[in-house]
Amino acid sequence: MPALLETHALTSFYGDFQALFGIDFEVHAGEIVAIIGANGAGKTTFLKTICGVMTAPREAVRFEGQPIGGLPAGRIVAKGLAMVPEGRRLFPSLTVEENLRMGAYSRRPGPWTLARVYQTFPPLASRKHHASTALSGGEQQMVAIGRALMSNPKLLICDELSLGLAPIIIKNIYDTLPNLRNEGLTLVIVEQDVNTAMRVTDRLYCFQEGRLSLTGKSAELSTDKISQAYFGM
Ligand code: ATP
Repeated sequence: MPALLETHALTSFYGDFQALFGIDFEVHAGEIVAIIGANGAGKTTFLKTICGVMTAPREAVRFEGQPIGGLPAGRIVAKGLAMVPEGRRLFPSLTVEENLRMGAYSRRPGPWTLARVYQTFPPLASRKHHASTALSGGEQQMVAIGRALMSNPKLLICDELSLGLAPIIIKNIYDTLPNLRNEGLTLVIVEQDVNTAMRVTDRLYCFQEGRLSLTGKSAELSTDKISQAYFGM
């Protein structure tokens, strides 16, 4: 079985500035994998490069064994890879339901419908006709996840789900992840909070200054090892 998503010696650049240096990464169907690392380590750049927002050599990114590096973002979504971006990026002039519908533009067939999203995130059902900006941060994060689910992805990639949210809300959101896995999804999450990342994931990758500094099973890595890989001390 090939990995669902893999990168091989992936590099990424902002003009002349090299942000990623030879990243080897893989996630298999059914896994929940975390990407951790300090500010500026390259986590968001990695996600953007996978998702077609930044260019990549064709063969350096493979999805279900097929090269997808450098494909336009819309074609990558259509193949079944969806991203929940950092900062949620909802359409402020649209309602909750309109935001969710935007996620279905790729028209991939599959189990995710509005009804299913409301079932997964009950607070959204009663607020579907509200402007997305009228929601709390946690509810907005639910909309962002729901919008990505509406594309019926095989792989859901989440960038910093916990950013700016209260601990209890973060816990509620993370508690839904195993349910998503049970529905057949594979998940990659970027998370600055190492304890949360270790609690909810099978494996983790730590980035440091554009390079991988550590990878392993979340349950088997010691806090010391992770601190060293995270901070480089
Ligand atoms: P954070 O947790 O702060 O989002 P990160 O691990 O996601 O950090 P990136 O945002 O991927 O890190 O940044 C990786 C490197 O690329 C950093 O050195 C950053 O300054 C640089 N960088 C990020 N975005 C740009 C940009 N638009 N133009 C130039 N350099 C950038």
